[in-house]
Amino acid sequence: MERYFRNNLSWGESPAPVDVDVLQTVLDIVVYADDLADDLAEQLDPATGRPILASPRLGEYDARPWLQYALACLHELPDDVVEWAWPRVQKIHERTARVLGMLYHGQTVKVVCPWCDGRAEEQPVGGAYTWKVEVLPSNQVAIVCHGVNCDPPAEHVATWLWGKPCWPITTWTRLAKHVIPEHERAQRARNAIAS
Ligand SMILES: [Zn+2]
Repeated sequence: MERYFRNNLSWGESPAPVDVDVLQTVLDIVVYADDLADDLAEQLDPATGRPILASPRLGEYDARPWLQYALACLHELPDDVVEWAWPRVQKIHERTARVLGMLYHGQTVKVVCPWCDGRAEEQPVGGAYTWKVEVLPSNQVAIVCHGVNCDPPAEHVATWLWGKPCWPITTWTRLAKHVIPEHERAQRARNAIAS
């Protein structure tokens, strides 16, 4: 046990089977949260008298005090600072979601849509990942294809959202049957060129 506590950062020495990805994320989140708290504290009017929160010590992995501090600062700061802080908070959220295998709003699904072939405005030849996870106004999670003029046959599309095909999470098992795995797509493309 003594060896375990000698240096909390040397994960390689940990006797416990640890998930390196999760631990790296936990560390990253503490760093992000501390940076955010620091930057926001700098924006505060000194007259507010909010004491500066010291940076996390080595081996401190709970980001909550710095997130709480950042939130408290945001309440005292003007809207433009809040807008500036938002992408950074989002980065923390996405990083957490990725490592936990969570779905999150705006997440790109790494699949080429079988109906529009991934033709996107910025990639008109196709092959782009046009499926995004969206949280619908009804709070349901769905995949929406943002491909140009994506128009699956009626029997394959669950519903439409803003004129785009939309598949709520309850239909994903069915949807998955239409997805062509990446290696198979590449093979088909090669065959098409060869023939
Ligand atoms: Zn599509």
